[in-house]
Amino acid sequence: REEHLLRSEKLRVVGELASGMAHEIRNPLTAVRGFLQISKSNGYNIEAWYSLIMEEIDRMSELTAEFLQFSKPQSTDFRAHSLQTCLQRVIALTESEASRLGLKLVYEHPQAPLLLWMDPDKMVQLLLNLVKNAYEAMNPGGVLYIRMKEISNRAVVEIQDTGVGIPSDRLETIFHPFYTTKDYGTGLGLSISYKIVQDHEGTLEVESIVGEGTTFVLTFPVLTAAEETG
Ligand code: ADP
Ligand code: MG
Repeated sequence: REEHLLRSEKLRVVGELASGMAHEIRNPLTAVRGFLQISKSNGYNIEAWYSLIMEEIDRMSELTAEFLQFSKPQSTDFRAHSLQTCLQRVIALTESEASRLGLKLVYEHPQAPLLLWMDPDKMVQLLLNLVKNAYEAMNPGGVLYIRMKEISNRAVVEIQDTGVGIPSDRLETIFHPFYTTKDYGTGLGLSISYKIVQDHEGTLEVESIVGEGTTFVLTFPVLTAAEETG
């Protein structure tokens, strides 16, 4: 009975996601068709529309790529893996963009690896979403602080930016699929992130002051020595 309820809840969520997705895809499709129609009926040189058409197509690819993260079967690739290694990867993936935007990173972490039971690709995806959002919220001169520590058998990661901040009445909405305040955002990053956190028995909290910045705090259970050796 409970399983049945869980299942119909899941179907409802999938249905909402699917209709949101259809809506999100229809807008760029309508735009692209519009460009083509105008250049056809006015005999315009189509080249004038190339970059607009490509932008809209890129947007659709990004949406479908991110959407696939939802529909992927539940991960089975869990193993003991270091959280520092994941963050190192995220930093490597974002550092050139950060320096291009004139943003700085301050990263503090314990020397000994914090080992978690995790799917490393998913963990990188989660941290990458949060770090990208932080960079996107800041102006040149902004600083991203990442503080990793262990507090009573939990790994804690604080991701703090000096960006635009989030109004308090939006602190829940930001986790809804397709909610975005960006011109080219998909609004899927945080909802995917939240799902990854849940899959890892973690917690995710956010605090923000408009005009000062935002802090996301993640916690996960740390593997004990006994669990590591299995
Ligand atoms: P997207 O990045 O595509 O907009 P997300 O789900 O990653 O989608 O984020 C949803 C929204 O939450 C963003 O559009 C932004 O308004 C807000 N947001 C997320 N992270 C931050 C942050 N660090 N600072 C300010 N706003 C943020
Ligand atoms: Mg995002």
